[in-house]
Amino acid sequence: MASDADDFRPLEMLAARLRERIRTEGPLSVAAFMGEALFDPMAGFYATKDPLGAANDFITAPEISQMFGELLGLWTAEVWGQMGAPAPVQLIELGPGTGRMMSDMLRAGRAMPGFLEACDVTLVEASPALKMVQGETLSRAPVPVRWAKQLEAAAKGPCVIVSNEFLDCLPIRQAVRVDGRWRERVVGLDPENPARFAFGLGPVLSEADIETLPDALRTASDGTLVELRPGDGPLVEAVAARLHAAPGYALFIDYGSDSPEFGDTLQAICKHEKIDPLDQPGGADLTAWAAFDRLGALAREAGLDVYGAPGQGAFLTGLGIEQRAAALARTVGEAGRGRLMRQLERLTGADEMGDLFKVMAFASPGLSPPPGLDRLKG
Ligand code: SAH
Repeated sequence: MASDADDFRPLEMLAARLRERIRTEGPLSVAAFMGEALFDPMAGFYATKDPLGAANDFITAPEISQMFGELLGLWTAEVWGQMGAPAPVQLIELGPGTGRMMSDMLRAGRAMPGFLEACDVTLVEASPALKMVQGETLSRAPVPVRWAKQLEAAAKGPCVIVSNEFLDCLPIRQAVRVDGRWRERVVGLDPENPARFAFGLGPVLSEADIETLPDALRTASDGTLVELRPGDGPLVEAVAARLHAAPGYALFIDYGSDSPEFGDTLQAICKHEKIDPLDQPGGADLTAWAAFDRLGALAREAGLDVYGAPGQGAFLTGLGIEQRAAALARTVGEAGRGRLMRQLERLTGADEMGDLFKVMAFASPGLSPPPGLDRLKG
């Protein structure tokens, strides 16, 4: 006999709830669809499971190699020294995934005398499922670890904020140029098959929305698509509030562009394959390119010093990843050496993550430049 549990199909229930919402309220913005798909409490892609790793849906730099977190740990210890080695210092990670990066960072941080003793870690995580995974990964962490749902809730004081692949899952909006005006791209139901979601055109963008776009993107020929990142402003504001109240640095690593660009970057990844972004809300990772030019401009307007954004390859090479790989290679056999070299290539190769992923840091005004990054000109 079938039990009730057999009928519990959270993805189908989420799709049904979204269809119902569209029927009653009208089409959703891309941001609303993305937010539900990632964080619906019952079926959201991040909210309900651990999608990271080779066996799951997608793989990220800290999951590819321990070297990534180790170098960021050394980077963090170094900027802590540049801040005058305050104790305590809040080490805050936004969107920590499995906790691997933080675990590797703390191990490497031992090299800097006094650093671990000064560290209080806060993990800013929205997903209850990933919080559990992080708790396991960091169960033997040599420092106190706390969680917060938002950066604003982390303990005050001097801080180093780090993040990898956090910006790309902040929900985006999209707009399309039609008859010389920008109209919001929305998600409705396919008239041919109302069980399916389909893109459509919604209201004309407000002047205030258009002003959030860089000048170079405000006008374009009909048919052009542009993306708005409504999450970036509040994020920069929260970081700036901290970095003005007490010394600190914030590091963002993500895939994206460092110059104004048109075009649709919304993508869905399920089990390492790209699928249609509207096909499986909750069943696929939905992400979009970070816009480092705009992020940097927002941070500068907020009075922060801005550094970057080189490619991840150049950044990690500058921090000494080749030497780290060589040192690790001496401790493993032939097969292990091959694996390390492949990891190095994946993290730094121009055709792999080396160019597409970029690195940007913000600092409280007047602090020294962080290792591996130059002051953004302009
Ligand atoms: N940094 C990790 C994980 C990247 S996946 C790595 O590189 O492997 C994105 C992470 O950000 C997940 O942990 C996800 O749950 C979290 N996240 C996404 N949006 C968030 C938000 N608004 N607030 C807090 N955490 C968020």
